[in-house]
Amino acid sequence: MTDTRPTEPARPADTLISGALIVTMDPARRVITDGAVAICGNRIAAVGKRTELEGVFTARRTVDARRFMLTPGFVNGHVHITGDPLTRGSMPDHVDGDFAEVLSRWVIPRFLAHTEDDEHLSARLAAVQMLRTGTTSFIEAGTIRFLDAVVAGLEQAGIRGRVGCWVEGRVAGDRAAQTTAIDEAIRMLEQEVARYPASSGARIAAWPILIGHSTNPDEIWKCAKSLADANHLGVSAHMSPAAADPEWYLKNAGCRPVEHLAALGVLGSNLCLTHVVHVSDREMQLLADSGTNVIFCPSAALKGAFGVTVSGRYPEMRAMGVNIGLGTDGFGSDLMREVGCVAALFKDVRRDTEIFPAGDVLAMGILNGARAMGLSHEIGSLEAGRKADLVLHDLDRPEWRPLLNAVNHLVWCADGRGVHSVWVDGRQVVDDFRCTTVDEEELYVRAQHAGEAIIKRVGLPQVSGWPVE
Ligand SMILES: [Zn+2]
Repeated sequence: MTDTRPTEPARPADTLISGALIVTMDPARRVITDGAVAICGNRIAAVGKRTELEGVFTARRTVDARRFMLTPGFVNGHVHITGDPLTRGSMPDHVDGDFAEVLSRWVIPRFLAHTEDDEHLSARLAAVQMLRTGTTSFIEAGTIRFLDAVVAGLEQAGIRGRVGCWVEGRVAGDRAAQTTAIDEAIRMLEQEVARYPASSGARIAAWPILIGHSTNPDEIWKCAKSLADANHLGVSAHMSPAAADPEWYLKNAGCRPVEHLAALGVLGSNLCLTHVVHVSDREMQLLADSGTNVIFCPSAALKGAFGVTVSGRYPEMRAMGVNIGLGTDGFGSDLMREVGCVAALFKDVRRDTEIFPAGDVLAMGILNGARAMGLSHEIGSLEAGRKADLVLHDLDRPEWRPLLNAVNHLVWCADGRGVHSVWVDGRQVVDDFRCTTVDEEELYVRAQHAGEAIIKRVGLPQVSGWPVE
């Protein structure tokens, strides 16, 4: 007698990534050997063993991933898309003057010297560097001048991000000048959010992005927060990298920065505060109670001499339940290097090897960043139904062999150099170590010319103790 029961028809898939070692970052933290992921459209259709999925899916394209590790895309919680990428490396380690003088002589003129073309180029360069090192999503620190050009560059590269012109609103002058500046800043925030809405799954969308520190009047903080609440967005701002911010708030507001923001009613799970190196016990409790996200940029903190090894309270904040994501700030964009740095930093500072285990910092670089973006239901793990943001790491490289422990290796031994292929929203944007969406050769030629021209226009000296012939 023959079996007349209908057989399950094969399910169609656009791509089947087959045979990989998969670090899923799912709630059980499964690591699957000889695994497979099926992609349909912009979402993951299934994750499992290769032998199971190959019997279920008929894919238009199958990627033989037997020599690769597959991870979710990393999330950069704070990166400067313009200002820094085309001029990085030009500033010497030490320049005379306090923080404000350094900003006014070395930083702000560089940022303001960018043309619209420069910012378009800068955004593409930043996106290519992130994608090529396994970062598929980011929160911008704030476009300096030309948001439309930046969005166009990012759209071309195919990365996922939250962007916005950086906003201050505090000006020197009389009350009328201050009122005008606040009105203009609020209008800009409202227009950007309307122009680049986050609805319908947009990869690039606008958030209210504030410079933070002491630059934003209370009206700007409250406007940004209400715009975010009404439109399901987030707000990003710098705060307390150095002691200067707490000192300013204590002098001008009578309390510390996070206490002031709490009194304004702007803390919450849709607020990302970057740095937060100098923070009190009460501020940490306010951050934890409100669900406010903290973005830690270890390389920037170390190079900027923020005092993070002396004053940083990240292990305590984490123990209190604060969501801590990671960022690169203005120093390159390889988030995998920041992950390794965080894993090491506080072990040494506290003489305690139990602090920030490898798996926890990996989650900071992926899941916590997704949560800070308000997208933890969409990205950050390889699970059926999630957005198809995936990274293939080539294991046949000197830094990857021998591979004996997947999570330890990702944190302690590997970095973004091994990223071979990347998908964002189901679209492959890196293949065989090259971006498929941007002409990299042309990009690098233009970036070199633009960077030299910006430094020349600003008139900054090339400071080097070594003779350049
Ligand atoms: Zn920054």
